[in-house]
Amino acid sequence: MSSSSSVSGNYGRRHLNAERGMPKQCWCGQPAELLTSGSVTNPGRLYYCCARGYHKRHLFKWADECLVEEVEDIKHMISGMSDDISFLILSVAFGWEKRLK
Ligand SMILES: [Zn+2]
Repeated sequence: MSSSSSVSGNYGRRHLNAERGMPKQCWCGQPAELLTSGSVTNPGRLYYCCARGYHKRHLFKWADECLVEEVEDIKHMISGMSDDISFLILSVAFGWEKRLK
């Protein structure tokens, strides 16, 4: 088997921006609230909003966009983890092989 240096995962190296995914709170410290849009353009669409209410400079983010980001990040993380697991399996198998000799 040829040696490979690309086996170890890279999910830890990526800086996950706090802005991505579901927001927990607004920059002002108020918790994020999940609300349903009643607008004509986006009726029934879920969104995160500052607990102070909708305000231009406070938190506002569509929940479906948050979900897409979360899924993308999780997929990225899992692909890195599966690489790490493959590496660990190889390491363990190689370790056992050495011990049995
Ligand atoms: Zn706010």
